[in-house]
Amino acid sequence: MTQVKLEKQLFGTNGVRGVVGVDMTPDLALRIGTALGSTTEGRVAIGRDTRTSGEGLSAALKAGLMACGCDVVDVGIIPTPGLQYLVRGRFSAGAMITASHNPPEYNGIKIIDRDGTEMGDEGVVRLEELVFSGFYRIASWDKVGREKKDPSLVDTYIDGVVGQVPAAIGEGIQVVIDPGSGAGYHTTPAILSRLGCRVLTINATPDGTFPARLPEPSPEGLEALASLVTGSNSAFGVAHDGDADRAVFIDDKGRYVEENQEFALIEQFICRRQKGTVVTPVSSSLLIEKIASSCGCTVEYTPVGSIYVARRMMGMIAKGDRVVLGGEGNGGLIYPGHQFCRDGAMTAAMMVYLLASAKKPLSTLLDNLPKYHMIKEKLVTREGKKVVQALEKVFSGDQLDRTDGIKIVRDRCWALVRGRVLNQSSGL
Ligand code: MG
Repeated sequence: MTQVKLEKQLFGTNGVRGVVGVDMTPDLALRIGTALGSTTEGRVAIGRDTRTSGEGLSAALKAGLMACGCDVVDVGIIPTPGLQYLVRGRFSAGAMITASHNPPEYNGIKIIDRDGTEMGDEGVVRLEELVFSGFYRIASWDKVGREKKDPSLVDTYIDGVVGQVPAAIGEGIQVVIDPGSGAGYHTTPAILSRLGCRVLTINATPDGTFPARLPEPSPEGLEALASLVTGSNSAFGVAHDGDADRAVFIDDKGRYVEENQEFALIEQFICRRQKGTVVTPVSSSLLIEKIASSCGCTVEYTPVGSIYVARRMMGMIAKGDRVVLGGEGNGGLIYPGHQFCRDGAMTAAMMVYLLASAKKPLSTLLDNLPKYHMIKEKLVTREGKKVVQALEKVFSGDQLDRTDGIKIVRDRCWALVRGRVLNQSSGL
């Protein structure tokens, strides 16, 4: 199966993102809302993370949608996977105002298709054409849309995640949750409490200035979480990025869990129970392949970007293949029995389930995983194409994988060189 990344001018891998007041403005939000409204009929769900600019951008986006005749339901602050969960089967589309892991001065818009997945490249290119051309489908005065605010829909998402794991599975497990003042502040604590866990929180007040740590859950920002985990003798700590689609962990010894190891541990837990395929981008550690094969499962590789993983999973399942898990080595995991997008709260719930079943500390489980090492570096160049051509020449005798950039594959290691245009803070 081939997936080709189409060229987009405005949208990156994860929607439109930019610095508020510079390239992410109410005017742009209005145009995107009007473009989406021109291609959609019915009700559109709107959600946002905790950023200071969220309400204003949301108002502009909604104005565009209603001008085209779409009714909007504003859910308020909700994780991106929460909005995606709500859209599937309930709405014609969704729009999430978030800049995910980026610093507070950023914000962005991510469009959700009616099936709950991020809008694919083709839809996005069509939307961009409308934004640039201005050929909108504006409704007459008697056909304009209405707005309804319904923050209670967040509970539907909470119920959905809780229903994915056995009832009361968290009894006897104490955890610390660090939503980083972001969109998971009210959802993950509620979900793990409902599972029976004793829940402690840090940075669980919504605050778009992100006063305690940046929205990216990096090891440097999680020292307070690590201290609270060890100081309170908790089983683990979990932290989210700004829109809570990713979850990263601190083990019971206060150590940051490298994200490929987190992925591998949950993969091992799932693959021991179900046989099938694990879908992941070409950038994931060989550890993922090692765990899959040791459990009798296989790995399917995609280009980098969770949307490619999600859509490949859906395509394979539609063909009758068994897909047990999807994910990236950044704390973003996709559970096909739940929904086809990364879900940080679901990953936290799965960690509780895993620990309750293993009856061993998280640190022991991690120490038992095979050891792999990964070095990532970013280089800025205007000669990207020449670099790839040179690599193809030098490594022509090797096995080369061109799923995304160029990957030189050997028995026990690989190297991947891939590029992206640095015109916005796209990413995770
Ligand atoms: Mg995110």
